[in-house]
Amino acid sequence: MIYLDHAATTPVPREVAQAMYEVLTEQYGNPSSQYPMGVEMKKRLAAWRASVAAAMDCPAEGLVFTSCGTEGDNWALRAAAWQNRHLGKHIVTTAVEHSAVLETCKQLEQEGYEVTYLAPDQGGLITAQQVLEAVRPDTAAVSVMLVNNELGTVYPIRDIAQGLPRRNPKTLLHTDAVQGLTAFSARDLGADLISVSAHKIGGPKGVGALYLGPRVKRPRPLLAGGGQENGLRSGTEATAQMAGFAKAAELRMASLERDRAHLADLRAYAQERLLAIPDMVPVGQGTAPHVLSLSLAGWPSQNIVNDLGAQGICISAGSACHQGKPSHVVAALKLPKRVAAGVIRLSFGPGTTREEIDACAQALQQHHDQRMPML
Ligand code: PLP
Repeated sequence: MIYLDHAATTPVPREVAQAMYEVLTEQYGNPSSQYPMGVEMKKRLAAWRASVAAAMDCPAEGLVFTSCGTEGDNWALRAAAWQNRHLGKHIVTTAVEHSAVLETCKQLEQEGYEVTYLAPDQGGLITAQQVLEAVRPDTAAVSVMLVNNELGTVYPIRDIAQGLPRRNPKTLLHTDAVQGLTAFSARDLGADLISVSAHKIGGPKGVGALYLGPRVKRPRPLLAGGGQENGLRSGTEATAQMAGFAKAAELRMASLERDRAHLADLRAYAQERLLAIPDMVPVGQGTAPHVLSLSLAGWPSQNIVNDLGAQGICISAGSACHQGKPSHVVAALKLPKRVAAGVIRLSFGPGTTREEIDACAQALQQHHDQRMPML
């Protein structure tokens, strides 16, 4: 099998699985228990938090484990809205956010909030100025993702964070950094809330984290109960998932520079190989090294994905979270119909090879030559 869909999820390295296995079978204690195994787990929990915090370059005290990126996104928006509930009921976000943000915004609209959805240009880009101009005296929160999962476009979070106090010193800034993990520094970005997820970096599914910066006052928990995570996120800690997340973060940090260079090289190679196929065009102005968005203009993307899938090649027709439905990200680009119909996403991991890209290019060329385009 050739797996070119690392933006959807990633394989778990053996070391990560081993770290999880040990916690599942030997060190299985509840960190709230008072006997030595419980005490040991509490210590380990602190170490896992420190590893994930190191990968995000943020203080460990500000990091809360969650069950996934979706939970972090939901909670960040709710926390910002709650903190600024006396300021106003306006939120600024973009039309290309993950549905974890967009659906929370829809819920907030039902609760009386007004949401401004900023449209990207044809390249999928949104400027800091565009975001800052939309901020009003009643803006409780701004939520802009760091890296778009479908296009690989990178958004100017640092510039937004720097300009925000001039527009409204109380507005909180959230960034969904699920597709950017290990490639950013929270200190440098300056966002107040940053959500991440383990399964995009070689960790297990079902665990993520939310960074709460110093401007975030004790947020209202999304999950109330036994008071775990310093009372911020109740529920018995998913220790095996957390151990896996920490190990994955450590492994990625250890090979950060090498991986970055490898991914950038692969992306450039894939772009050159695939754009040589007739009717293949680039989509968006993405620069994240692990995502490449293209269109085989005129050939419906779902057919391409099915055809390649039958040959053991996994690519995506946009976001895996939107399968079957037209992607809102592609729709926001307002591309010509034939280009929009053929959008595909290839995404790479540290283990991806040039040979795998060659095989994918060959299969796409065949699809082009042998299948009928749309009328
Ligand atoms: N945000 C972005 C940008 C994503 O790509 C994803 C997953 O695809 C999520 C949020 C949701 O993360 P999770 O799958 O951990 O809930």
